[in-house]
Amino acid sequence: MPVGEFELIERWFRDCGAARADVRLGVGDDAALVRVPADRELVLALDVINAGVHFPAESPGRTVGHRALAVNLSDLAAMGADPAWALLGLTLPAVDEHWVEEFAAGFAVLARRFGVSLVGGDTTRGALAASVTVAGFVAPGQALRRTGARPGDSIWISGTPGDAAAGLALLQSRLSGDDGARAALVQKFEFPEPRVALGCALRGLASACIDVSDGLVGDLGRMCVASAVGAELDARNLPLSPSLRAVADLAQALRFALAGGDDYELLFTAPAAARAGVEALAALVPLACIGTIVATPGVRVGGLPAGCDAGHGFDHFAHHDPGHQ
Ligand code: ADP
Ligand code: MG
Repeated sequence: MPVGEFELIERWFRDCGAARADVRLGVGDDAALVRVPADRELVLALDVINAGVHFPAESPGRTVGHRALAVNLSDLAAMGADPAWALLGLTLPAVDEHWVEEFAAGFAVLARRFGVSLVGGDTTRGALAASVTVAGFVAPGQALRRTGARPGDSIWISGTPGDAAAGLALLQSRLSGDDGARAALVQKFEFPEPRVALGCALRGLASACIDVSDGLVGDLGRMCVASAVGAELDARNLPLSPSLRAVADLAQALRFALAGGDDYELLFTAPAAARAGVEALAALVPLACIGTIVATPGVRVGGLPAGCDAGHGFDHFAHHDPGHQ
């Protein structure tokens, strides 16, 4: 007998994620009741992921459950917020018990790691999609925004951009590589690591911050527009992972790093006075200084190898993610 909606929620989503004392009432009633600290601002974000657009339709449930929460925790990280609660809107074409169990497990493992409690949601029938709302806290006025970048600020990126896009290309057979590099890159695509600790540590240091979901240059362009500044990147300072270099030549690796999506790394700016503070965070997570904010609008990429066109065509207005309206 197929599992009904009620049973599905009871079995897999009632105790999903961390147990938190500030959850007065979680899954099971008409709505959740949570206690917000009096001295904090509530930070809210929502991201929907659709099969065939934001993840391959045939993806294992565990990877989709992880991604649904990870992309949202990445948004909280980019704001410098401490995550607390989540709501899940799950749309399924049919109930494949194994798939849902794996989805819930992928979601729960990540939720527990970051102390997030799933407090409610909705379950509907339709094309496979997961909509997650996350809530977190930040001290008043401490949230990181896209608007604070100023000429002279350094531009920093966490991790090794381009890996996730190469991982997706490997999954889709648009790229080939040896088993070790392939496994590492596919892992980066399937299990993006939200940079929550870094985002929180950047409060008071970063002048602006954004998470890279649509590609480094495109998202940097969005930050520049928000801050009414421009950016100059030096491609020679881009941190390219050994795995990426094992499956791509330099020009191709730079294209993945500059234009590939799905990294969920933090891209942030910091003034000279904050440099030592930012460098100290490199013990927490790999960080690279990749350029400088300038007054002239637009994003320019210098330091590209001869014959490499990876610096062209990155007008962020031309960058269009078909999944986002
Ligand atoms: P209602 O009819 O009031 O919308 P539902 O039957 O949709 O109630 O949901 C019952 C309870 O289960 C609610 O507390 C709701 O928040 C929770 N819930 C439903 N779907 C999910 C889900 N996918 N994940 C987490 N909680 C869910
Ligand atoms: Mg409902």
